[in-house]
Amino acid sequence: MKLQFLGTGAADWPNPGKDVGHSRRYSSMILDGNVMIDCGPMTVDAIEEFGVEVNALSCVVISHPHSDHLNFKQVTEIARRRSKKLPPLELYLNKLFVELARVRLCGERVEVKGFQQTDHFHAGGCEFRSFPANHMSEMNAPVASHLVITNAEERTLFYQLDGSWLPPEVWKYLFREWHPKTDKALDAIIWELTCGNQVDWRQFEGHANFAMVREMTAVLREYGIVGTRTRMFCTHIAKFIEDDHESLQAAITPNYTLAYDGLTTEF
Ligand SMILES: [Zn+2]
Ligand SMILES: [Zn+2]
Repeated sequence: MKLQFLGTGAADWPNPGKDVGHSRRYSSMILDGNVMIDCGPMTVDAIEEFGVEVNALSCVVISHPHSDHLNFKQVTEIARRRSKKLPPLELYLNKLFVELARVRLCGERVEVKGFQQTDHFHAGGCEFRSFPANHMSEMNAPVASHLVITNAEERTLFYQLDGSWLPPEVWKYLFREWHPKTDKALDAIIWELTCGNQVDWRQFEGHANFAMVREMTAVLREYGIVGTRTRMFCTHIAKFIEDDHESLQAAITPNYTLAYDGLTTEF
């Protein structure tokens, strides 16, 4: 399983432009070189800075339609940069946004596909399970998903952003599917850590701080869902917490890697 983090910031970072430096762009990552998860308004700059091969991308999966995770202009730009010999780029997003996406991407080489908040689908050679996330929505409709993704090598990643405490649906799935397999914990978890190591009101808005991540990990570890080989990364870091990368990484050591823009890892 190969992960490449293109953006690791929450929605309060200014756009750093072409060179991210010590800043953070909005959340986006690539799994195994071909599956992009989330595509916010700074993703194309990250693709250029980190040398992403756009022809290797086959699909973009959107966890939720907040503007730091979905930007149609960036999806359009990625689709236009891909070779016309390739099949259209596939875009997966909450089904409530499919019609809007089809209008915004009309005429582009993008095939829009919808999924429900609780759903099971295949994309880019991976199996996706979508679950409700404990995350705010301005739409009076539940649209945010946590994603459990199993790749072609049968390795499984839990993509937990954006979100606060895990909803019971997630717990029930993890407990049912993973607890009995005591020899097979999750391979990786990507936790959202918007509030860093601080206490902040945004924990009630659908975000997490480190005390919450640590507590949720402890429960998952108790039931064998997190094991000694489970890699854990923290991302979606807010600028408002004002901890620099080194001090926040020190606070969450040794069990968690604080992701940064451009981090690539394979395991
Ligand atoms: Zn976000
Ligand atoms: Zn969000």
